[in-house]
Amino acid sequence: TVEHVRKPDWLKIKLNTNEQYTGLKKMMREKKLHTVCEEAKCPNIHECWAVRRTATFMILGSVCTRACRFCAVQTGLPTELDLVEPERVAESVEQMGLKHVVITAVARDDLKDGGASVFAETVRAVRRRNPFCSVEVLPSDMNGEYENLKILMDARPDILNHNIETVKRLTPKVRARATYERSLEFLRRSKEINPNIPTKSSIMIGLGETREEIMEAMDDLRANNVDIITIGQYLQPTKQHLKVQKYWSPQEFNELKEIAMQKGFSHCEAGPLVRSSYHADEQVNAIKMN
Ligand code: SF4
Ligand code: SF4
Repeated sequence: TVEHVRKPDWLKIKLNTNEQYTGLKKMMREKKLHTVCEEAKCPNIHECWAVRRTATFMILGSVCTRACRFCAVQTGLPTELDLVEPERVAESVEQMGLKHVVITAVARDDLKDGGASVFAETVRAVRRRNPFCSVEVLPSDMNGEYENLKILMDARPDILNHNIETVKRLTPKVRARATYERSLEFLRRSKEINPNIPTKSSIMIGLGETREEIMEAMDDLRANNVDIITIGQYLQPTKQHLKVQKYWSPQEFNELKEIAMQKGFSHCEAGPLVRSSYHADEQVNAIKMN
C-alpha cells in the first residue's frame, strides 16, 4: 500500500480565482460547453486562461464510452450529438481572446466515425472566426480507424496530440480499450498523412513506472516520429481512481526533460503540474520558428 505517500509541498497550491475567471465560467455554462481546465480542476487555470490565453475544450459531450482508471470523466452511453457545438466553441475562443486552443473529446465509440467529423468541423469553425489562434487537437484513438484520423487531419490542425498516458507495462491497468501499440500507430499514421503537422504525446508519471520504462516510452515515441512530449505528475482525482505510487521531484522532472531533448524531441514540458496542454502556445511558436 502507498497510504504513506503524502502530497509534497510543491503540489500544494491555491486555486487562483478572480472576477474575470468567474465571468468566463458563466459563459461556459450559458453556451453549454465543457473545458478540461474546469472539470479536471486544473491548477494552471489562471495562468492559462488569463495570462497565456490558452484553454482546453472538451467536445462531443461530457459522458465517455470508456472508463480509464485515472480519469474523472463520467462513463456511460452518450445520448446526444450536438451538431452546433463547433460554432459555440468558435465563439467562446473569440470571446476569451485565445491565442491557442486545445480541442479534445470524450471517446465516442458509439459513433461510426468516433466523432471525427464534429472534431474536424470544430477546427474549421475556430479557424473561420479566429484566424490567429493556433489549434491543437487531442483525440482518442477514434476506434483506431485510419479513415477517422484522415477526416481529422484534413482539417489541418496546428498540432496533432494523442496521449499514450503511461508506460507500456501499465497501459492495460491504466487505460480502457486503448492499447499502447495502437496509440503509437495512430501517432505514426498522423505523420504519414501530413508530415508538416507536428505530433505530440503525453505521459503521467507516479503510477508505479520505473525510470527505464519512461526511457522506453520516450524511445517508442521517437521511433514513431513524435516531436513533442509532455510529462506530468499523476494525481488521483477521487478515491475510486488509481492511487499515486510516487511523487517525482522537480529535480527528477528536470532530468527527464534533459533526456527527452537528448533523444531528439523538439520540445519537452516536464514538471509536477505539467498537463498535456500546459505551455502548448510555446510549442507552436517553437515549431513555427524552426
Ligand atoms: Fe486548461 Fe491545460 Fe491550462 Fe490546465 S494546463 S488550465 S487543462 S489549458
Ligand atoms: Fe477519460 Fe479519455 Fe479515458 Fe474517456 S477515453 S475515460 S475521457 S481518458
